[in-house]
Amino acid sequence: MADDLLKFVSIEQEMPSKRVAADRRLDFSEIYAEYVPDAAKEQSSRCSQCGVPFCHIHCPLGNNIPDWLRLTAEGRLEDAYEMAASTNNMPEICGRICPQDRLCEGNCVIEKDFSSVTIGSVEKYIADTAWDNGWIKPIKPRAERSESVGIIGAGPAGLAAAEELRTAGFQVHIYDRYDRAGGLLVYGIPGFKLEKDVVGRRTGRLEQSGITFHMDFEVGRDASLSDLREKHDAILIATGVYRSRGLKIPGVGLGNVREALDYLVASNRKGFGDKVPEFDDGSLDANGKHVVVVGGGDTAMDCVRTAVRQGAKSVKCLYRRDRDNMPGSAREVKNAEEEGVEFVWLSGPEAFDGDNTVKTVRAYKMRLGAADVTGRQAPEPVPDSAFTLECDLAILALGFEPENLPALFGAPELRVSRWGTVTVDHQSMMTNLDGVFAAGDIVRGASLVVWAIRDGRDAANAIMKRLTASQTKKQEVAA
Ligand code: FAD
Ligand code: SF4
Ligand code: SF4
Repeated sequence: MADDLLKFVSIEQEMPSKRVAADRRLDFSEIYAEYVPDAAKEQSSRCSQCGVPFCHIHCPLGNNIPDWLRLTAEGRLEDAYEMAASTNNMPEICGRICPQDRLCEGNCVIEKDFSSVTIGSVEKYIADTAWDNGWIKPIKPRAERSESVGIIGAGPAGLAAAEELRTAGFQVHIYDRYDRAGGLLVYGIPGFKLEKDVVGRRTGRLEQSGITFHMDFEVGRDASLSDLREKHDAILIATGVYRSRGLKIPGVGLGNVREALDYLVASNRKGFGDKVPEFDDGSLDANGKHVVVVGGGDTAMDCVRTAVRQGAKSVKCLYRRDRDNMPGSAREVKNAEEEGVEFVWLSGPEAFDGDNTVKTVRAYKMRLGAADVTGRQAPEPVPDSAFTLECDLAILALGFEPENLPALFGAPELRVSRWGTVTVDHQSMMTNLDGVFAAGDIVRGASLVVWAIRDGRDAANAIMKRLTASQTKKQEVAA
């Protein structure tokens, strides 16, 4: 191996080139270019092929990272893709949107002065190359199985489970209340992080593989959970979390104080060319407005950067902690700053002022006090520190909670935690209802795409085990 690898001492870290901020402010296309083949080889060759690879340990999917880096360094890209796809159903998507600085790359052991291997960009390169070369084909199961599985939710958890189950020959039906498959991959995350055709080619392949998609189908409206249980041998609930966390301050009910997801869904729909009345009448369009986004997570980063692209007059992000203590990815904050977003750190909103619509946000400064139960320093208001910000559109990005699924699904017996997440047995991934499994954000609370994929894969394995065991039992009884 030695000739192709261990080159971190002689080759510097190099990300794929990033479009200049002045250009990227004008459209919703992704901001990073693809590696050229030589650069991907070179960057992969920086890996030192650790005996105990911390990158792999800190990847939620347990990706065999050193192996596919070695294959890329050797120019064996088809093998590299096979290896990457054996643990990840969407390598090109994770390569684009995982917070690598907190996961694989953040744990790469290459000494800090030399900078980590650019694992995410190589993963994206390998998988995009596989698509470009036609190496990714529809699934052809070795043998068909008669049992059917109903999956509620076409987000990454549901899609990953569907792929695993179809590969094993099961009859898979996905039900989703949206008109397009992908969940937050299509309607939450903006195109400048993840272009929509990247998601579309994955869902298209699943359709070509014999998976049946029932779109515009809302469980709770078009069928109850028990209707679906009667139709299928197993059910997977993968519905994500969609109820926005509220803010109880004066003026929060004014017309131009909006929820982050409503804003992002409208923008993503416009990107597809859909008719979106609330965007078309200007209420969810930031063009020409002073925009204030409240929150410091990835959703807030997506909102501020969307507002910039829509032509906002100014975009400010109000966050109650400081830069070092914000939950959003450091890389995204840097991208937002380059694009002209102003961060108002250590600040919280006190009221939205205006007659029918907000004209200003009244805010106050915060400081970090004693650590709370989670170990994070709790922010507290600084006395007499009030200030105001001009505002024509306020967007609340304060996180998400689950909807009341037992009520929504007409299944009061479905057990949920006190936060409303569905409770599963972590060995079997099964809820308290026989044959009903759950995965993704609806189990974990708002999390990451890579964890949703992991959960979807685990749930699929648990479903296969159960259906195989019951098939074997039936055969034994019949014999
Ligand atoms: P979802 O993706 O939410 O999919 C759930 C699906 O279930 C949806 O399609 C929904 O329509 C459907 N559904 C819900 N209820 C019903 C019902 N009653 N009947 C039928 N269908 C139903 N993660 C990252 O790793 N990187 C990022 O950069 C990132 N950015 C994000 C940006 C935003 C704005 C948001 C909101 C989240 C972001 N995340 C990011 C988090 C990530 O998107 C989620 O963790 C992930 O999508 C969860 O996957 P899931 O399959 O559990 O749920
Ligand atoms: Fe890193 Fe995410 Fe890829 Fe795992 S899936 S190797 S965490 S980018
Ligand atoms: Fe290579 Fe870094 Fe992983 Fe070690 S930790 S195997 S150097 S990518």
